[in-house]
Amino acid sequence: MEISTLTIEAARSAVATGKTTATVLAKSFYDKIQKEDSQIGAFLTLSKERAIDTASRIDKLAADGKPLPPLAGVPVAIKDVMVTRGVRTTAGSKMLENYIPPYDCTAVARLEQAGAVVLGKTNCDEFAMGSSNENSAFHPVHNPHDISRVPGGSSGGSAAAVAAGMAVVALGSDTGGSIRQPASFCGVVGLMPTYGRVSRYGLIAFASSLDHIGPLARTVKDAAMVLSAIAGRDPMDSTSANVPVPDYVGELEKPVRGLKIGVAKEYLGEGLDGAVCKAVEAAIQKLASLGCEVVPVSLPHTASAIPTYYIVATAEASSNLARFDGVRYGYRARDASTLSDMYRRTRDQGFGAEVKRRIMLGTYALSAGYYDAYYLKAQKVRTLLTRDFEEAFRKVDVIVTPTSPTAAFKLGEKANDPLAMYLADIYTVTADLAGIPGISIPCGETREKLPIGLQILGRHFDEATILRLAHAYEQAVAA
Ligand code: GLN
Repeated sequence: MEISTLTIEAARSAVATGKTTATVLAKSFYDKIQKEDSQIGAFLTLSKERAIDTASRIDKLAADGKPLPPLAGVPVAIKDVMVTRGVRTTAGSKMLENYIPPYDCTAVARLEQAGAVVLGKTNCDEFAMGSSNENSAFHPVHNPHDISRVPGGSSGGSAAAVAAGMAVVALGSDTGGSIRQPASFCGVVGLMPTYGRVSRYGLIAFASSLDHIGPLARTVKDAAMVLSAIAGRDPMDSTSANVPVPDYVGELEKPVRGLKIGVAKEYLGEGLDGAVCKAVEAAIQKLASLGCEVVPVSLPHTASAIPTYYIVATAEASSNLARFDGVRYGYRARDASTLSDMYRRTRDQGFGAEVKRRIMLGTYALSAGYYDAYYLKAQKVRTLLTRDFEEAFRKVDVIVTPTSPTAAFKLGEKANDPLAMYLADIYTVTADLAGIPGISIPCGETREKLPIGLQILGRHFDEATILRLAHAYEQAVAA
């Protein structure tokens, strides 16, 4: 069986019909990872024992002729910022290099309850801070389309694993674009749900008001299936929303004719690569040919999104990362003479350069005397950005944009220029700040055959519409 193009449905039905077993399937994925991941670097830890346990449970159900859960036997990969009981969880950081969590992230537990087989934990930027995966404390990830290029970040390992066929689907996290941008660079589908749609319990916090968990997949339908499994209220996360979860898969086939598609000029201007612009414009034409109505909209505060994001995100990060002090868990410096010396050395040795930069930026933005000028100001601009979207969504059902201004860049190309790296997040951070859902789907390639991503943004809790439109586009392009 060819495993590198398997969808959820194909994998599940192969197990359900006895064409294969969940155990054999998991083993074939491990063989592939063993052979090919030395080139890519997508995985940090493999959870073989746990995978085989789940797979045998599924195989027993199948052998007994019992009904199988929706993701029965489907091999999945998990970004290493989600804690997994008994399985090392590093957040891409030396600080947690040997950390074995005592509990499971809700999203991971729900996937497993739905029958998914967790193959292992994927590489990522340290504490999910980055856009290229080069901030991992362990090793970079290479883009499967061109191994001299980055896979995007921070969920680079998850995107690369799915693109390279080393997992059917994966979970990532998105604080400023980290699901959608790597999906776009690796030519896969990446969905960031509405803030609160998926529980953050067990997600190692970067910026709590911006963090989201969501799927990376090879098809829109697979993304919808994973979202169905992980969405919904969780008593363990008070910010998880008590909003009914619709039948995402059932809604996919509803017609898209008549949907109003907003196109914002602020997202198609300066800094946008020519090939990306062309591909996105062609995609908009395609959607129009499906009977959607294209409507110009304006999101006037877009230019302020990057500074706003990098103040709010670093402020929250500086507070969240205070817990890594060498006392409770994780790395502890051995050579300290006093308690405060131990804190200092632990954090100096345990964190990488980008994480330290952000802790300093955030601490500064929150300090007495600067709080009003930076943090409070950023919160006000955040409200204006949210209002931009509310205004636009009065006129349109979705907004279509490029996911990233360029296709995947070379490893090392921006590594020493954090500002250039930050500026490239322009099309993704806005949705995180506003809390609205967004999806990135492949919409063509550059002359060098690098994937280009189309982003579709939707109203709060309206993942169903962006999934439906993305699915219609995917079907139309395939036809
Ligand atoms: N690239 C952004 C950053 O570096 C987004 C990260 C994320 O979404 N986790 O903060």
